Amino acid sequence: MAAVLSLGLTCNNACVFCAQGERSASSSPREREAEGLDLARRLHVEPGDVVFVQGGEPTLVEDLPAVIRALDERGARRIVVQTNGRRLAYRAYARALREASSKLSLDVSLHGSTEPMHDYHTQTPGSFKQTALGVRHARAEGIEVGTTTVITRSNYRHLAEIVQLSRALGARAVHLARASRFGRAARAADRIVAPEELVRPQLARGIAEAARLGMGWLAGEKASHAEARELFAGLGEVEIAEAEVLGSSRTTGALGAASDQNFVETSRLVRAKPPSVNRSIAWER
Ligand code: SF4
Repeated sequence: MAAVLSLGLTCNNACVFCAQGERSASSSPREREAEGLDLARRLHVEPGDVVFVQGGEPTLVEDLPAVIRALDERGARRIVVQTNGRRLAYRAYARALREASSKLSLDVSLHGSTEPMHDYHTQTPGSFKQTALGVRHARAEGIEVGTTTVITRSNYRHLAEIVQLSRALGARAVHLARASRFGRAARAADRIVAPEELVRPQLARGIAEAARLGMGWLAGEKASHAEARELFAGLGEVEIAEAEVLGSSRTTGALGAASDQNFVETSRLVRAKPPSVNRSIAWER
């Protein structure tokens, strides 16, 4: 089972495709400081639940370590924080998150294989350097990391390279998600949303690369493992699929071979059930 804790809309990136539109710059971190822990205590968590913590940018909430600790104490099996990872460029902050819970994993936004590509998408100079360092620090602290890439016209040809960078930074799995016509993307959809027929072969290439590198992957409603699904924010069932199903001509032999014991070997299941229940609580302005 799964639950969602939403900690407001404030963010220190300004992504060209942000589904929140301009609301990500509108709420007050100070107001939310008092709210985060209270929300965590009010959220109904049952032992064994996966809890997704999302924003905006959750690391802007000053009591996030206390929030994570509270969710751990209430029996969460896994706590997934969806983040741009920038604050973890400060090693002490990465350590504080790790000390809050051994159940923590991070879903980090990575939108380019290079600094210009990523920073174009975030519209925030310097964000790539901080995000990349943040992932390295998280891994150095022993925190599980998956990276999410929103696929746009400006990065769809580089998905395999983004997967390679994700692996090089130490991520265990990748989530390749198509940009949607919501929020900021809706206003400039022709510039941001790439045509399906152009994305499809590049997506297959990116997934094949993830499989070759022994990484888990999630794309749309398909995933390599049930646990790969759990590493990323968002709810709903996925189908467990081999990379070849999505059109790759490359072998997926490395997928099973490189799966370590942290990944539940569920690749033979037809459907991955968890997480399937949406109990959510959100900070409201
Ligand atoms: S990091 Fe997420 S919340 Fe922040 S601007 Fe980008 S898409 Fe929006």
